[in-house]
Amino acid sequence: MAAAGTLEENLAAAERHLTRFAESPIRHLVAGEAVPSTSGATFANASPIDGAHLGDVAAGDAADVGAAATAAAEAFAEWGATPGTERRRILRRVADGIEARAHEIAVVECVDTGQTMRFMSAAALRGAENFRFFADRAPAAADGLSLPSSDHVNYTTRHPIGPVGVITPWNTPFMLSTWKIAPALAAGCTVVHKPAEWSPCTATLLAEIALDAGLPPGVLNVVHGMGETAGKALTEHPDVKAIAFVGESSTGSAIQAQGAPTLKRVHFELGGKNPVVVFDDADLERALDAVVFMIYSLNGERCTSSSRLLVQDSIHDEFVARLTDKMRGVTVGHPLDPGSVVGPLIHPRHLAKVDGYRDVATEEGATVVVGTPWDDAPAGGNWTAPVLFTGAEPSMRVAREEVFGPTLTVLPFAGEDEAVAIANDVDYGLAGYVWTGDVGRAHRVAHALDVGMVWVNSQNVRHLPTPFGGTKASGIGRDGGDWSFDFYMETKNVAVALDTHGVPALGG
Ligand code: NAD
Repeated sequence: MAAAGTLEENLAAAERHLTRFAESPIRHLVAGEAVPSTSGATFANASPIDGAHLGDVAAGDAADVGAAATAAAEAFAEWGATPGTERRRILRRVADGIEARAHEIAVVECVDTGQTMRFMSAAALRGAENFRFFADRAPAAADGLSLPSSDHVNYTTRHPIGPVGVITPWNTPFMLSTWKIAPALAAGCTVVHKPAEWSPCTATLLAEIALDAGLPPGVLNVVHGMGETAGKALTEHPDVKAIAFVGESSTGSAIQAQGAPTLKRVHFELGGKNPVVVFDDADLERALDAVVFMIYSLNGERCTSSSRLLVQDSIHDEFVARLTDKMRGVTVGHPLDPGSVVGPLIHPRHLAKVDGYRDVATEEGATVVVGTPWDDAPAGGNWTAPVLFTGAEPSMRVAREEVFGPTLTVLPFAGEDEAVAIANDVDYGLAGYVWTGDVGRAHRVAHALDVGMVWVNSQNVRHLPTPFGGTKASGIGRDGGDWSFDFYMETKNVAVALDTHGVPALGG
């Protein structure tokens, strides 16, 4: 376990682990070497806690992406042919390395993103779990199906697609990058990773751990920089065969267009406006805890957060009263304090967006209930407080748009049909949560929701073999278990004749 530590211990650890980033700029990793940008350009990285300068970061462009893609293409020749058992051995060592440095990873992540320790210590370990899970499946990744016909033996095999690009967001950057990079490497692909510019630090830690674990140089490369330059160049590079992207829906559209000339295979995990539907026959105590957890954990900066509460009108007033009490009890505090639930948001621009929805809600006629801010919040940070929008209508922006902050919109409904209609009436379709004591209704509603994932009487509890992904503007494709390998690998069919079928004889 990565102990969450006390605030004092974590502050001391932050001093130890963050100094390196202040002393010298974060560099790219190309062919196993830490290198500055070809242009020499850097950009500044600021702390969400107080705006302090955390350090500079190499600002990559097409030249840096080109070097990384070349390194990945060269390394692919060997890594793609490395036996699955050997890939398993190395990737298990990566998992061990993550576990050994889990506290460091969590501390750096908290300071870089503003996410709080209680969640980042678990997220670091989830990163190790992701590596171990896909490492163990590496030997069987190439396995296919036997599909015999009367006159042919057909069998399929899978082959790694080649070098791939992984582009990640800032909300839980370390864990999310492992979710993409681990299956890619296990499949035999090589990787160029472009981390989010607002949270560059932990990508360096993962690269170090991977090299220490014996991952050959060039198998995992990292290029930092802006989405519109480094990210765009990665999506356009002809040697990069596929792009695994996690981020906003509008960015996904841009990437699809950018990748079209080189016919990129894409996998998108995009935004959400996920409903949690609470019927009056549910276990309301558990439902209430899940509702609070699924929007106020991870600063609400979570793609699967249940940001719309659909609550049956028969229990609406009582449920919302209890919810308001709980919401006011959610602790905002220093991200390194293990008692904090909500920390500062990632960036001043994101803070302005999230807080701006309070005005939007007021103008639309909803009621804004603000939780308890942190009185001692340092100046210069991106501090906010939990928020509840009540008295909302499904047509309002606060009921339709992804806020990506600790804000929950409450919508009453009368019956099952209305609940499903409201739940589905948004552009997104990532996840849905259903709370009911009626087994038949649980299944009916789960089937009717137009989303990629449904949890019944549960918060988001991941089981790694299951598919993860969304419908509509929430994404294209699925991750998890074998679905990940399907994306990172090409399937080939081999048909071998039994020499019993007729071969048409043409030409006399
Ligand atoms: P974003 O789309 O702004 O950025 C994500 C990444 O894309 C960054 O690395 C960025 O530099 C890069 N990028 C930006 N423009 C690009 C371009 N034109 N070409 C290539 N790369 C480009 O997203 P964000 O603000 O960092 O993250 C928040 C979003 O991510 C939210 O919408 C959230 O729902 C989503 N998200 C989804 C999932 C999921 O699994 N569905 C998980 C986490 C976050």
